[in-house]
Amino acid sequence: MTRDIEQFAQLGIGEALTNALLEYGIGKPSPIQAEAIPYILEGRDVLAQSQTGTGKTLAYLLPLLQRIDPDKKESQVLVIAPTQELAMQIVREGEKYGEPLGVSTIGLIGGASAARQVEKLRHRPHLVVGTPGRLRELLSTRKLKLHEARTVVLDEADQIFQLGGADDIRALLKGSLRDRQLIFLSATLGPDVRALADREMRDPADVGIEPEQKLAKTTQHLYFVCEERDRIDILRRVVRHYNPQRAIVFVNQANTIAEVEAKLNHLGLAARTLYGDADKVTRATVLSQFRSGKFRLLVATDVAARGLDIPGLELVVHLDPATDSEHYVHRAGRTGRMGRKGLSVSIVTDRQEFIMRKFSRELETKIEPRTLYDGAVLTPAEAEERRSGAARRTPKKSAGTSPAGRSEAGASPAPQGGASDSDAASSARGESPQRSAAPGRTNPGKPAASAGRGSKGGKKQPNKDKGAPKWLKDKRSSQDPS
Ligand code: AMP
Repeated sequence: MTRDIEQFAQLGIGEALTNALLEYGIGKPSPIQAEAIPYILEGRDVLAQSQTGTGKTLAYLLPLLQRIDPDKKESQVLVIAPTQELAMQIVREGEKYGEPLGVSTIGLIGGASAARQVEKLRHRPHLVVGTPGRLRELLSTRKLKLHEARTVVLDEADQIFQLGGADDIRALLKGSLRDRQLIFLSATLGPDVRALADREMRDPADVGIEPEQKLAKTTQHLYFVCEERDRIDILRRVVRHYNPQRAIVFVNQANTIAEVEAKLNHLGLAARTLYGDADKVTRATVLSQFRSGKFRLLVATDVAARGLDIPGLELVVHLDPATDSEHYVHRAGRTGRMGRKGLSVSIVTDRQEFIMRKFSRELETKIEPRTLYDGAVLTPAEAEERRSGAARRTPKKSAGTSPAGRSEAGASPAPQGGASDSDAASSARGESPQRSAAPGRTNPGKPAASAGRGSKGGKKQPNKDKGAPKWLKDKRSSQDPS
């Protein structure tokens, strides 16, 4: 570790900061840090493509904190972030690493009391971090003055645009010095970000991971197919199977989030929600409880969870598939951070399966199908093998009954979200044969293979032959002992 830290020194990071890094357990620069730090120390504009989890925050904070003159009572660096959480995270890092240098930090974040922020602004904190709306508001009321800001950073620039912050950014850049240093960081370099960079930057240094590698290499991407009504049940079994300490569950609609939370809690999976429009205190409380392990599943929308850094998050579940591959990148980017192993699991209906193939193609990443079968996670081929093996072992009497069919017969009908926890019940309600369209697969949700019902408790069903083809009636009468 001591040796590695010299690499930070070689990039130009001074002793006060390398000591602080060591203190916080950071020993070696990440690739983006190694690339970006020298340019930023030089004062060059930087356009960096990098997703969260790569160490991008310190890639700009360390050199910028070091370039701040703590003796001048001036706000010298402005960092703009799309969401309150990300802004707060940056404030926390700024405080941690600014303190040994005598650098003061302020967060100008929507949702918190503006009056207190204005009061603090009077002291001209060196590093200003904020969300676009609040910053613009304070700029327009002249509470915030940007004529001393030598550097402006847009963190997660693509998200700032997606969340409608383009006008705010225009106003903030207009209010800053003409020859300020500009640093843009973005997971994706879409047309908006590129246009802004072309217009505002001077000869920017391009910094970035390989463009095709938008997703962490250490994250595995899987998907499970089920019927719409079985989503929660599959989620439950995925959580049971992988047993993560913490996981984020993404939903697309904010108005379904409370229902999902209630269902998960009903199933005994401690869950809480992160709403985009919840007040700042509630959001901060939920996040700190999640970080400290007070509950296990954080149910969130894309907006609410963007840019979150939850150390050691092992699993991300897309309870609804992401709306496009960019959202997929942002969601999956919550796990597999800084070289750790991560898992991203999407739950889709068979009609949504094409979305997985599309993301896989667009992101040049394998997103592979899996099946839950008798409590195990199997590839489709393994599941097929198990199913045919089980069919071979099936006694003649119930020949034609798929394993799923048998389980189905044995399982009591579970409510949606399936309170029953037995593997038999599990395999019956969506895990084994989720892909009804594919040959050789059955669909327990839609028990088309209804032969299983015929063997229900061996009871005779009075009208069972009604409408059955002749060969089946003949077969049944030859088998029926009664
Ligand atoms: P970020 O990509 O900025 O969201 O950072 C992700 C996480 O990695 C944060 O918790 C950082 O504290 C941590 N981190 C940043 N740089 C390094 C590094 N060089 N080595 C190990 N961890 C780091």
